Amino acid sequence: MPSAQTLSSALETLLEKRPHAPDEIATLVRVGSLLNSTLDLGEVLRLAMEEAANAMHAEASSILLVEEKTGDLVFEVATGAKGDETRRVRLRPSEGIAGWVVAHGTPARVDDAQQDPRFTTRVDRNTNLVTRSVLCVPLKVKDRMIGVLEVINKRGEQPFTDRDQEFLTLLSHLIATAVDNAQLYRKVYEEKETLRAVLDGMADGVLVVDTDDRILLHNRAILDLLDVAAAEICLEKLDDPRVSGLANRLAREERSTVSFNLEYHRHEEPTTLANTAAVLRDPSGGVVGAVMVLRNITELARVDRMKNDFISATSHKLRTPLTSILGFASILRNEKLRNTTGENAGELVGSAAAAIEEQGRYLRSLIEKLLNFTGMELDNFRLEKEPVEVSLLIEEAVQVVRSWAEAKGIRLAGGSELLAAEAYVDRRKMVQVLANLLENAIKFSPPGTTVTIGAEGAEDRLCFWVSDQGPGIAREEQERIFEKFYQVDRDLTGQVEGAGLGLALCRNVVSAHGGSITVESARGSGSTFSVDLPVA
Ligand code: ADP
Repeated sequence: MPSAQTLSSALETLLEKRPHAPDEIATLVRVGSLLNSTLDLGEVLRLAMEEAANAMHAEASSILLVEEKTGDLVFEVATGAKGDETRRVRLRPSEGIAGWVVAHGTPARVDDAQQDPRFTTRVDRNTNLVTRSVLCVPLKVKDRMIGVLEVINKRGEQPFTDRDQEFLTLLSHLIATAVDNAQLYRKVYEEKETLRAVLDGMADGVLVVDTDDRILLHNRAILDLLDVAAAEICLEKLDDPRVSGLANRLAREERSTVSFNLEYHRHEEPTTLANTAAVLRDPSGGVVGAVMVLRNITELARVDRMKNDFISATSHKLRTPLTSILGFASILRNEKLRNTTGENAGELVGSAAAAIEEQGRYLRSLIEKLLNFTGMELDNFRLEKEPVEVSLLIEEAVQVVRSWAEAKGIRLAGGSELLAAEAYVDRRKMVQVLANLLENAIKFSPPGTTVTIGAEGAEDRLCFWVSDQGPGIAREEQERIFEKFYQVDRDLTGQVEGAGLGLALCRNVVSAHGGSITVESARGSGSTFSVDLPVA
């Protein structure tokens, strides 16, 4: 917008030079107040240039602006009978008299354009108009050229005069300032819109507060993260003791950023948000507020907790057999024992070595289970499915546990109706599932009892089952036994080994196949585990 000062100094200059120029003054005053009235210049500039053309008795007038990206001259306004056609043309940098004015920064006044080597005929060709006289002055903001004002064809076959040139130059001061302000305003507005789009496109919540905790800026994601309505956050001060006073705290501690976690209830769910706050300074370096970026890390925090639980439970499991291995090893190293001969000593060495071997084997199976389990927990855990005969799956699983069952005095029986049917599964992993179920059944069954494995089918389902006559599982435990590391109290099961991972592993594999695993049991009357798979 032209300042009052620009306008009055323009008028003073004009009055000094032309004390009797009321027409021009009236036009400048009108144009000045028009330009002052709005930042939306389109229509105002056209009116201003119509006034200018009238005041100078010109056939047409125009404003050409330099396009920032290309340097081309583009018609912002073109008045007169052929205004619309004129606006369709754009001039290359330095093209025509207008281009020359921009390049040289000085006005050009031409009596017969057709005779002027700087003149371009491109506009005339588009408009079917013949340009004769031309007056063109630069639009300058400080030393920056932003375009030109041009009037053509003074009526009555007259050339433009010194007085016209002075008048157009004065007008150019008013218009240049107004156009510059409007462009600046548009730039600021566009930048603000871009910032808003970027902020609202972010998945992280953003909150900008001043040193009094008033909210200056927020994005859409923050509303969802903090579970508050837009109106509330716009109107209210930040009212949370954990984040209020942040800007002042950063200033006091002379820190530029601070990070901490916040526990919230979001949609009634416990939620963990990671907050990174950075200090906001004014150009002189004073602290004026803080910018907070909040990210929902609930899932990450849960995984982290699980990882820690896993590590501590695993270390605990590994320590028990290791302690007994170390204990027996130190017996073997015992000086007295080594120097003793005789049957007793031999027996002691034999049983210590056997215990070490047994515990070592157990340790190895534990580690294998752990490795399997961590492999199955990875996101890229892939199944390699193939059609396999049901009888083969069962046979391979039985093979894994046969000698152990015999050693424990447990009878293994088959109860299948479906041995010839085919299952479409990851063979290795499915055998592992069945072997795990058989292992558990054998582990918990008293000697002399029977463990049965079988398969049965419906139209679209295939069901493997493993049944035992062991201690059974109380109803309240039946869901929990599928959780990682969960074991029923050993006083009830007499269990001495295991990591509590077998059933969790089974559930992972079965659900990856789109199936489910369940148990039917009651304390004292055995258990039946069923693996229910969809038939592909
Ligand atoms: P573990 O390696 O400890 O056996 P699992 O995940 O395979 O771990 O089993 C979890 C718990 O479920 C066992 O510790 C045991 O308490 C119970 N359980 C599993 N199978 C049986 C079964 N056939 N009879 C009785 N209890 C069982």
